[in-house]
Amino acid sequence: MPPQPVPARRGNSEIRAYALRYMPSERSAVEAVAVPIENPKSKIENALLSLPFAVAPWPLIPYLYRPMKILLTGVAGFVGSHAAERLLAEGHAVTGIDNFEPYYDPALKRRNLEAVQKTARALGSKTPAKKAPDLAAEGSVLLPGSEGGAAGQAGHAQAAQGAGPSFQFVEGDFGDRALLDRVLAQNRFDAVIHLAAQAGVRPSIDDPLKYLKVNVTSLVTLLEALRAHGPKRIVAASSSSVYGNVTPAPFREDAPCVQPQSPYGASKRAGEIFLGTFAKLHGFRAVVVRPFTVYGPRQRPDMAIAAFARKLILGEPITLFGDGSSARDYTFVADIVDGLMGALVCPVEFGLYNLGGDHPVSLSELVAALEKAVGKQAVIKREKMQAGDVERTSADLTRSRKDLGYSPKVSLEEGLRQTVAWVREELAREGRRV
Ligand code: NAD
Repeated sequence: MPPQPVPARRGNSEIRAYALRYMPSERSAVEAVAVPIENPKSKIENALLSLPFAVAPWPLIPYLYRPMKILLTGVAGFVGSHAAERLLAEGHAVTGIDNFEPYYDPALKRRNLEAVQKTARALGSKTPAKKAPDLAAEGSVLLPGSEGGAAGQAGHAQAAQGAGPSFQFVEGDFGDRALLDRVLAQNRFDAVIHLAAQAGVRPSIDDPLKYLKVNVTSLVTLLEALRAHGPKRIVAASSSSVYGNVTPAPFREDAPCVQPQSPYGASKRAGEIFLGTFAKLHGFRAVVVRPFTVYGPRQRPDMAIAAFARKLILGEPITLFGDGSSARDYTFVADIVDGLMGALVCPVEFGLYNLGGDHPVSLSELVAALEKAVGKQAVIKREKMQAGDVERTSADLTRSRKDLGYSPKVSLEEGLRQTVAWVREELAREGRRV
């Protein structure tokens, strides 16, 4: 179902439902309604919002509710495009940044972005659909239908005052300091959701320096820019890959994570450590999530489920690495987005949180479930386990349930049904007979 528009002023019951969904009861109202503490509209409002959740003046809170202005990196990616749509559906103003990095076909990313833009329009994005020169002028490109520049700023200001969602897109590298300075100086963001990354476990073995550059150096460049301009509030995606093969399952966030199995995992762990250091040293609020094998519509083509489903539908053989006993805690993308939303309003100074599906399944079980979803038997080729791959991933969700209100809801069966339906649409769009 497409995201539904939210009213410009949310009702008390909606806000309360949102608060109850995302916030444990002992928190203050300010966190419950996701109004950044850093930006109170007035001292009185701030005082009211800071009252404990249980005694918050709920009838007044809809009048104080203010959607946020979010900078979202990696907006054209698999998870990023879903996160953008959810943020818009919840009434926030989103500025997305992406450089269409060619790790996989950039045409897929452009289509993801188009879907976000379509959602923004359907939700009645208040941003004037006018191309303004300032962000586009110096390297970043605003795509047709994107909204940005001076006109975009006006729309974003409107959105951030409760007038409804808005979306603007900046094409560029999140590690480009000059671009960041311009974007951050022209917008007063409440928070950053950082999803852009050099993804992929196996390719990181051949090109570790690229992973170091994007996932560490560029991240620190972003943090430095945020230190200079604000906001000092960030939700960042790390990965279950930080746990490697030595952490006992189910993985707990307090495991040392000193032996990731791949340069990708090592780069993500290094990024986490920098985020923690910036929280301590410079007063950032940094919530780091560790997604576990995310799947769903728009899944990256290099990942198992989308690739297997495609081959199964086309009657092509699928290659399985290992004896089929390796296991993954597959997590549906909508559940990951739930976790990101919980992280956005989580008041900790620094925290690491697993986002898993809560039901690890073996590779053999996954293939059987996919065969059922597709309605065809797989032709299987077997090869030995590949370097970089881990035996098992399994998330302990105790901490994320408590602090983020996280609770994965989509079963593997339902998630595969939705993913297979999307793969069929993609094949039909490509003119393949399925
Ligand atoms: P993705 O590759 O689909 O999305 C990442 C996006 O970031 C891409 O659109 C890419 O073009 C963009 N990007 C890369 N480098 C950039 C740069 N320098 N400047 C601007 N944009 C840049 O990946 P995804 O699967 O959506 O993953 C999103 C995040 O979640 C990543 O941080 C990834 O490491 C993490 N993660 C994903 C999974 C998963 O199973 N998909 C699991 C664990 C962690």
